Amino acid sequence: MVKLFQIGTDNSRFAHTVIMRYADDIEKIPAGAISTADAENLEAMFSAQKSAQQDIILNINMQAKEAGWQTSYNVIGEFIGSEKPDEIILISAHLDSWDEGTGALDDGAGVGIVTAAAKLVKEAVGQPKRTIRVVLYAAEEIGLVGAYQYVRTNQDTLENIIFAAESDFGAGQIYQLDTRFAEAVRNDPADLYSALKMMGVELGNNTTNGGPDVSMLPNYGVPVIALKQDGTYYFDYHHTPNDTLDKIKPEDIQQNQTVWAMITAYMAMSDFDPRPAAKTK
Ligand SMILES: [Zn+2]
Repeated sequence: MVKLFQIGTDNSRFAHTVIMRYADDIEKIPAGAISTADAENLEAMFSAQKSAQQDIILNINMQAKEAGWQTSYNVIGEFIGSEKPDEIILISAHLDSWDEGTGALDDGAGVGIVTAAAKLVKEAVGQPKRTIRVVLYAAEEIGLVGAYQYVRTNQDTLENIIFAAESDFGAGQIYQLDTRFAEAVRNDPADLYSALKMMGVELGNNTTNGGPDVSMLPNYGVPVIALKQDGTYYFDYHHTPNDTLDKIKPEDIQQNQTVWAMITAYMAMSDFDPRPAAKTK
């Protein structure tokens, strides 16, 4: 079986690109995705064909080719903490995108949001007490390759991460903060939660996995958060040639940067520790 997992919410005739996998025991035949409009057209042709008993002839021009394995790199920058340099606030996004569009939403927006958040915190408070680490993962789209490599490389220090989070859903306004914090301390940052509420961000559940590139970290006892965004238009554009900068509203990406900066600043300047008790020193 050939598996393709992608569909969009748009009416355009662009197919949504995504990773494709073959089952081990089958012959590898070419496979591709088509747009919803074209799929519906094809379906109408098939039902018309049944009554007319005519063949449907498709002319398919596919130019994809395998480029082989290449090397790419996670890009990591940090502001070292003044009081607790070993304690890490990890905020992240991914650098790669599918080749059709420019990747402005997926995930250029995320890269802009988390790097801007770190910069805003540095400008507002100077050197943070804890280390703020910005991780821009490589090769997310083809299977979280950079994220798994980060875990392998940093296995001995994962327990030092106070929380990890990824921005990977375009630039739609944030409306909810989900967490995976130690239950006993989850409600301690009441000041932060009420400040976020004034930005339109409600406190949600305590069961999130944090988003693709940090989703493996809870297994290692690392707390994660996810900032839920308005995705009304996200799947109209992502993984298509329409993923371009004009789809990002400046006021929306500014709200994202502000919310990320507020959380990052709070966590980098306070003693709040949401790690499971067993993992803390
Ligand atoms: Zn993405």
